[in-house]
Amino acid sequence: MLARTSGCVRVVFNDAVRCRDEAYRAGEKVSSTEVQRRVITLAKAGEDRAWLGEVASVALVQSVRDADRAFRNWFDSMAKRRKGRPAGRPRFKSRKDNRQSARFTRSGFTLRPGGRLYLAKIGDVRVRWSRGLPSEPSSVTVIREPDGHYYASFVVEVTPTPLPPVDREAGLDLGIARLATLAASDGQRVDIPNPRHLARKHRTLARLEREKARRAKGGKNRDKTRRKVAIQHGRVARARRDYHHKLALTLVRENQAVHVEDLNITGMVRNRRLARAISDAGWAQFVRLIEEKAERHGRTVHKVSRWLPSSKTCSACGYVMDGMPLRVRVWSCPGCGAAHDRDHNAAKNILAAGQAERLNARGARVSPSARVAMGDEAGTTPDAA
Ligand SMILES: [Zn+2]
Repeated sequence: MLARTSGCVRVVFNDAVRCRDEAYRAGEKVSSTEVQRRVITLAKAGEDRAWLGEVASVALVQSVRDADRAFRNWFDSMAKRRKGRPAGRPRFKSRKDNRQSARFTRSGFTLRPGGRLYLAKIGDVRVRWSRGLPSEPSSVTVIREPDGHYYASFVVEVTPTPLPPVDREAGLDLGIARLATLAASDGQRVDIPNPRHLARKHRTLARLEREKARRAKGGKNRDKTRRKVAIQHGRVARARRDYHHKLALTLVRENQAVHVEDLNITGMVRNRRLARAISDAGWAQFVRLIEEKAERHGRTVHKVSRWLPSSKTCSACGYVMDGMPLRVRVWSCPGCGAAHDRDHNAAKNILAAGQAERLNARGARVSPSARVAMGDEAGTTPDAA
């Protein structure tokens, strides 16, 4: 029944996208209620969508909302009203998509004594709780991961729990050899290893991919192997997420502010040579978790300007090297003779630049040393990797 519900959710989403598309082409303005009426109410009454009546309508309504949001993001993106990565035209969801989901709002679910979750038209579902809910949830999304596991994800209000202030800030340089190198304002250096969760499973995954390629397309055995691959990927993702959660909390606990480079991560992943290693490190997720935890615990995450040449600037005297190929791990500065570990030097520059930018934002004077570390080469190429 869960699978059927997410199937219907997908059909309604696609119908809503089609409905909006047609209206747009015909120059007709349709409200959300009208789309809902057409793709849910009228569809249920018709012959070929009558089965929509068998699943929870709250989940279908949420699906129409999601389609609305996708269109709004697209329009806003075209009108330059939207920050961040440009949103594309809403796409149809496929039956073959690996992740299926259905969202239930307040009227569609109840928490039962004994830890069961009641879902409209589905009934009581047994849940293995990973943790207690901090407050009354406003919605629940049931997600089916490609490895076949179902997850219930609740939206809850969380009261901030500020930590006592500390007199320490950190600059963070994200990398591949090490996940991150940290330079703290108290002079400490911390190397955070990169466990390369995916790379470790590389051989198992390669074997399974070969096995899958041998199986007939659309066959039962191919599906079995596909699921084995998904299970391995699921394990990798969970191990990585767990690692990031723990590190992010430590960073937030020990530092009042964490400075990171505002990396154009999606742009960098397009560099095929580095793409796999960067995705495996999961920088984006790591930074997002630091931001989330900082917000909850009353700390600051500051993203320094993307064009800071953090790797090729000497953190001691401000000398800027012409180039700094990726293979160079240690170097000494021709200006002052200081010996540098590539990533630790970058982290120091990020810390200095971040602190200077924050001082500037507060309207205070920038100290000369901070200005040196910032450099003056606004137009140089980024050397983020
Ligand atoms: Zn120097």
